[in-house]
Amino acid sequence: LLLLLAFLGMARFAAAQAMSEQEAAAKAQQILSQLSTGEKIGQLSQLFYFGPKAPAELSPGMPIEDAVAKGDVGSLLFVTDPATINRLQHIAVEQSPHHIPLIFGFDVIHGFRTIFPVPLAMAASWDPAMVTRVQSIAAQEARSVGIDWAFAPMVDIARDPRWGRIVEGAGEDPYLGSAMAAAQVRGFQGDAIGESDHLLATAKHFAGYGAAEGGRDYEASYISDAQLWNIYLQPFHAAVKAGVGTLMSAYMDLNDVPASGNRWLLHDVLRDAWGFQGFVVSDADAVKSLAAHGFAKDEQDAAVRAVTAGVNMEMALGHDAYTKGLPEALKQGLVTERQVDEAVLPILEMKLRMGLFDHPYVDEARSERILADPEHRAAARLAAERSAVLLRNEGSLLPLKQSSLHRVAVIGPLADSKLDTLGSWSFQEKLPETVTVLEGLKNKLGPGADVLYEQGVQIRRKYPSMFDALFGVKPEPEWPASEAKQHLDNAVRAARESDIVVLVLGEAQNMSGERASRESLALPGEEEQLLEAVAAAGKPVVLVMLNGRPLDLRWASAHVPAILEAWYPGTQGGNAIADLLFGDAVPGGKLPITWPRDVGQVPQPYAHNTTQDPEDSGIRYWDEESTPLYPFGYGLSYTTFAFSNLKLDRSAVTPADTVNVSVDVTNTGAVAGDEVVQLYTHQRYGLASRPVRELKGFERVSLKPGETKTVHFALDRDQLAYWSAATHGWTFDPSIYDVWAGDDSRAALHAQFEVQK
Ligand code: BGC
Repeated sequence: LLLLLAFLGMARFAAAQAMSEQEAAAKAQQILSQLSTGEKIGQLSQLFYFGPKAPAELSPGMPIEDAVAKGDVGSLLFVTDPATINRLQHIAVEQSPHHIPLIFGFDVIHGFRTIFPVPLAMAASWDPAMVTRVQSIAAQEARSVGIDWAFAPMVDIARDPRWGRIVEGAGEDPYLGSAMAAAQVRGFQGDAIGESDHLLATAKHFAGYGAAEGGRDYEASYISDAQLWNIYLQPFHAAVKAGVGTLMSAYMDLNDVPASGNRWLLHDVLRDAWGFQGFVVSDADAVKSLAAHGFAKDEQDAAVRAVTAGVNMEMALGHDAYTKGLPEALKQGLVTERQVDEAVLPILEMKLRMGLFDHPYVDEARSERILADPEHRAAARLAAERSAVLLRNEGSLLPLKQSSLHRVAVIGPLADSKLDTLGSWSFQEKLPETVTVLEGLKNKLGPGADVLYEQGVQIRRKYPSMFDALFGVKPEPEWPASEAKQHLDNAVRAARESDIVVLVLGEAQNMSGERASRESLALPGEEEQLLEAVAAAGKPVVLVMLNGRPLDLRWASAHVPAILEAWYPGTQGGNAIADLLFGDAVPGGKLPITWPRDVGQVPQPYAHNTTQDPEDSGIRYWDEESTPLYPFGYGLSYTTFAFSNLKLDRSAVTPADTVNVSVDVTNTGAVAGDEVVQLYTHQRYGLASRPVRELKGFERVSLKPGETKTVHFALDRDQLAYWSAATHGWTFDPSIYDVWAGDDSRAALHAQFEVQK
């Protein structure tokens, strides 16, 4: 009885926190009925706030404070200090005609104060529970300063590493991408929208942004219906099923129709097919840009096309097209009051469900305590350890033995750069808290070993990024040629004089992310030269990579004994890397993307359709191997694992049945470690050709030396059905299905079953 009472008490507490969907819907109707048309349109407007002194072109024609007081703005983004948030919220709540609170949004992509590994790295952990935990910490930190809404997760599938934003997603695979999408939504939002210390999440960028032609950011995407349904839409659907409150409509043209004016996407798919009840915000200025696409006639037409397509809220720099264009469009009958009401309602509902009407202000004193929580830093360290992927470890150079090292050379332009340890979207970090690789190694080695540090080379973008000011990037002045040679010589000397070299290469923070597309995957600047010169010094080299996309590691993979892919590991990156290099943590991450040999192989997803054996060199290219450098799902450990006993509980089933799969995995080495057990399937024949392999299950398991665990998977209609261009719909074909289990996408252990009519 006591338990029951406690449960009921908890349930009441939870109900007091979050308003139910039904209550919110009724209350939103009631509020809506009191609003003037202008106020309704105001709720649809979201503006960037860069402070009262922002340049005129960034103001909506009047100071933002005045627009808020008039009820012309429903949401602001980019305000991150609690005092300003409270000041603006007071204006909305006390001065606007119907006292509707603002909702504050921000790009909380991989942390707020504590920066976690970038999303691509999180995906490399293959550990959804950890991802949920770190995003819930990010949510707590951001909510503590008054941010209500994260523009994350980015769930765009990306198969072309030239596209800079590949770093912000979960990589190439719809199954892994869906798991990561749902895990992040749960982390940000908690169990239900409105849970305290949580944020509203945004699945973005709906849809197809990751397929930009040539990997050029903002370029059009051309995606077949089959690929759209089976690949690109999957993680969005997973986010919707996980209860995501908002989606962001993308910038680009999807098969010639801009995503932000695409009613088929925003209405037919999202609301009709998937039953989405939340609201859609446009990407920044995506509504105004409908005119630039050659789609809308002018800004007013852009507003009409976007709102009727299903973009509820317009995110805008400076002025927005909605408040400018919709009043006149209503008068002209180009849009109806009912359409405007339909756009406003879900926004009001979400503000109600988030509890903003009851608790519009933030406790400024509490936030400092939350932001300083040492547990958050510990979670960041663990996340960085679990995200790293060991690509190579010849002769078991790793883990290093501290006692045998007297002098360590730490070399490279990223070895001691705090900003570049964090990756993109990390302007909220406190830079001094960030631990670089150099600092992490010094912390680990203590006074017992000398650490020689040399930068070696400089790297910089050929064309600077417009975001550099935002992220606080101040490139150091370029070294004159004589100085550059000196730096390189110093690096080689340091290598020669040391027992071992930790070489930290990759890309600077502003080389991946938005507006950071590349036409090459070469190591930037003179890094390749530094790599070869340092390796020639004759000492063992451990290459640590900080980057957000696969880079050309062909030379390194043949000449450098150890390569650890650490991505942009975040606030605790240096400590985590030191733990990994010295065996206090054991690498267990796996690649969430195929790692090509060279840019010419791109795109090359493991899940491709073919009539040829791609292992057969000479079929694809005569100038390079056909296989990638490292396959999807690949990653080494300091121990070894063996797979056995792949079992299916039946070999012939009807389409309504589930096939239960089990496989044993044993740690056959001498240290404890994690293995990611991966399950792949292939449909041999059917109404359409299917990829040679598709991931259909995974689980990261920890195993002591000698330990065996049995991992279970279930394959059913949900897992195996696909959208077929033959029928223009979903189908589950009678067929023979191959099943493989193993440690990467080349998994060899095989079984099969038949689905009969
Ligand atoms: C990006 C979005 C981001 C928005 C707000 C846009 O340029 O594409 O991902 O959420 O800016 O910062």
